Amino acid sequence: MSRTVYVNGEYLPEEEAKVSVFDRGFLMADGVYEVTSVLDGKLIDFAGHCTRLARSLSELEMQNPHSDEDWLAIFREIVARNGVEDGMVYLQVTRGNPGDRDFAYPSDDVKPTVVLFTQSKPGLADSPAAKTGWKVISIPDVRWGRRDIKTVQLLYPSMAKMAAKKAGVDDAWLVEDGFVTEGTSNNAYIVKGNKIITRALSHDILHGITRAAVLRFASEAQMEVEERNFTIAEAQAADEAFITSASAFVMPVVEIDGAAVGTGTVGRVATRMREIYLDETRKAAV
Ligand code: PMP
Repeated sequence: MSRTVYVNGEYLPEEEAKVSVFDRGFLMADGVYEVTSVLDGKLIDFAGHCTRLARSLSELEMQNPHSDEDWLAIFREIVARNGVEDGMVYLQVTRGNPGDRDFAYPSDDVKPTVVLFTQSKPGLADSPAAKTGWKVISIPDVRWGRRDIKTVQLLYPSMAKMAAKKAGVDDAWLVEDGFVTEGTSNNAYIVKGNKIITRALSHDILHGITRAAVLRFASEAQMEVEERNFTIAEAQAADEAFITSASAFVMPVVEIDGAAVGTGTVGRVATRMREIYLDETRKAAV
């Protein structure tokens, strides 16, 4: 069934939606995006995604075309028009169409291009993978130095995902200077005793919206949280490992580079954090 998508103020059948060949998102990956989950027809962690969108745009000196209230209205409209119960809203804002190719940014008269579409995923929160966990491999992190900006330059994460697929596993953990940065499209964690360990925020990783929520819930649940670097060897020797992202929520990781983590089965902490995250964010969904 054809979706209704949003392009620059218009709601259109997906076949009729168009963006210029000169759009800087297309030519230069000069754009940012957000993925927001929908559960029971409501937006999960919407405020966090809106705040990060504003930050990504501002770091790139790009105009934010809408207020948070306007964004919420557009998100709700696209969810309603597509009848999404469980799934995702994808939002992309690019520096727009200057009418030609040029490395220099165009003047502010060139308006950003705004695209939204939905992806319906019935049963998103009941993913069978959450019961068995993911297997991951490690590969070098050769991405650029501003991973805190959520740009649409996703070629290396795609290559990493393909390397994982070829290796017969679910995802790849990226390693720089001997330490895990994050997964291809998620933040990475290990658990040792009562402690959750994850890399501290910096330009090296995306500041996950799910990460912020999970760390807050972990502290409230009397878990200790340590924000520091860890190696693949430390992760393989941990009691548990997991990842977080807006679309996978909290997903256990049971194997890293062929070595079982802990018992090699889904752990107690990851399972508990997934339950808490889903319960609390459903309650706060808009
Ligand atoms: N790191 C990277 C590289 C990502 O692409 C994502 C998801 N877009 C995340 C972390 C997780 O962020 P969030 O919890 O906001 O989805």
